[in-house]
Amino acid sequence: MTKDILVIGTGISGLTFAIKVAEENPKTSLTLISKSDIKEGNTRYAQGGIAVVRNLKKDSTEKHFQDTLVAGDGYCDPKVVKFVVEEANQRLDELIKWGTSFDKKEKKLDLGKEGGHSESRIVHYKDQTGKQIQEVLITKVKSFSNITILENHTLVDLITDHHSTIKKNRCYGAYVISQEREEIIKITAKITVLSTGGAGSLYAHTTNPSVATGDGLGAAYRAKVLMNHLPYVQFHPTALKYKIDGKVFLITEAVRGAGGKLCNSAQDRFMLKADPRADLAPRDIVAREIQKQIQEQDADSVWLDGSEIPKMEWKSRFPTIYNTCKSLGINLPKDPIPVVPAAHYFCGGIKVNKHSESELKGLYAIGECSATGLHGANRLASNSLLEALVFAHRAAINCIEFLGKPMPSEAFYKTLPEWNGDGYSKNDTIKNVQRLRKELQEIMTTNVGIFKTNKGLKQAQEKINNIYIKVQKLYNQNKLTNSLCELRNMVSIAYLLTKQAQEIKENRGVFYNHNHAR
Ligand SMILES: Cc1cc2nc3c(=O)[nH]c(=O)nc-3n(C[C@H](O)[C@H](O)[C@H](O)COP(=O)(O)OP(=O)(O)OC[C@H]3O[C@@H](n4cnc5c(N)ncnc54)[C@H](O)[C@@H]3O)c2cc1C
Repeated sequence: MTKDILVIGTGISGLTFAIKVAEENPKTSLTLISKSDIKEGNTRYAQGGIAVVRNLKKDSTEKHFQDTLVAGDGYCDPKVVKFVVEEANQRLDELIKWGTSFDKKEKKLDLGKEGGHSESRIVHYKDQTGKQIQEVLITKVKSFSNITILENHTLVDLITDHHSTIKKNRCYGAYVISQEREEIIKITAKITVLSTGGAGSLYAHTTNPSVATGDGLGAAYRAKVLMNHLPYVQFHPTALKYKIDGKVFLITEAVRGAGGKLCNSAQDRFMLKADPRADLAPRDIVAREIQKQIQEQDADSVWLDGSEIPKMEWKSRFPTIYNTCKSLGINLPKDPIPVVPAAHYFCGGIKVNKHSESELKGLYAIGECSATGLHGANRLASNSLLEALVFAHRAAINCIEFLGKPMPSEAFYKTLPEWNGDGYSKNDTIKNVQRLRKELQEIMTTNVGIFKTNKGLKQAQEKINNIYIKVQKLYNQNKLTNSLCELRNMVSIAYLLTKQAQEIKENRGVFYNHNHAR
């Protein structure tokens, strides 16, 4: 049976969207899928918090608006920025009503400060804001009988006119790997929502979990959906130098907001010379300065000195960071933390309008996989959880209206073909997939990372093209596996990102090419 709505991704955006639709319209049938378990994705790792103007004595939505525009370096859509900062309070109140707790000071929300913000306005829960929000959303989403949750179900491709004899520029659902059934199934839907998160895994060093492989972007690319601003990849300035269980661990910007200071191996506080906002300059500036220091000093990190933050504050406000550092023999606040930049956030993505509709009818994109116009050339810290909440709400309202419009018949959906490839293999051992993934990550890190050059981009384009040809061959000769599915998306997005990067002729926000004058 055709579902009303298929939601692909269970981070803050997909979960919030599903709750909103189910609450507004209990008759709507929704299927919500996630690639691995329902919790895995960028949301659960968000440490810092959500940017919302709460202290109206000192702060204003106008200031938040201006800070967002300054960070976005001329590429934000001011109309979008305006409604996002204005709708922030309603969305936060809703989260609180649903049961999310945030830290308080003297009975009021404790507001943190992060880079690029002119006032303290980051609402947080210790250094576990994303986890706290996601747990509440998961409990709530499970309470609706009209939502079916399918974990371990992986989007492969969108179903579009390409699979039909009728040409309506429309999306009709998706082909999805069911790991349970060990096959590729067809899920037809009147509306399909991509909430598949970012693609940090394109880089060797990323704060994102390994599921962040840009699958929604890859599927949208193959469906010829317009994608904007892909080369605007934000690198977080301060990831811990050491990996934990093979994963990069983030040291939230809120640590610098609380008094942490960056210095190089010569104990020089280099950010004082680099920008008037010093350690709290926007992320692009801090990440570039750190990378420069590392290259100039031939070092493998810079240092984050948190000795001004009292031990009690470390333990209460940043317990995860405190304990993680302790487990590595870094005793806070005494010892400095070795930090390096890491790929963190995709400012670009699937181009959507103010209701999160893509250019393909019936296909919406929300959260990190979308390009709404909020972030421009650089996301302001803690604006992404906010964007996900605001656009999930707007998309939900729009989808309910959309469902009231004339739709293809149930009989039409039945005519859409089953998956016609070789099928799925659980046995994830195709030779070369892991090697090609690593090779791709190295190329992206070396040539399409924080600093780029024309020559490096051209070389990257050629190498990525070669990998693309090899991946296509593997895809044609083998049954699809999870890793091959991810690699196919990663190489497509790396190709498009690098192509778009070559078309950019000036440096703005997070984008920096040494050969450009600005
Ligand atoms: C370490 C870290 C710290 C951060 N801190 C902050 C912060 O303090 N404040 C802030 O505003 N932002 C922060 N961010 C960014 C923010 O967390 C993310 O942008 C946001 O959570 C993205 O939410 P989402 O719903 O778009 O996607 P995600 O939470 O990434 O969820 C993606 C979902 O899509 C699913 N999925 C992916 N591919 C497929 C597929 N092929 N098939 C089926 N399902 C699929 C995944 O299983 C997952 O359920 C941080 C990010 C990281 C990594």
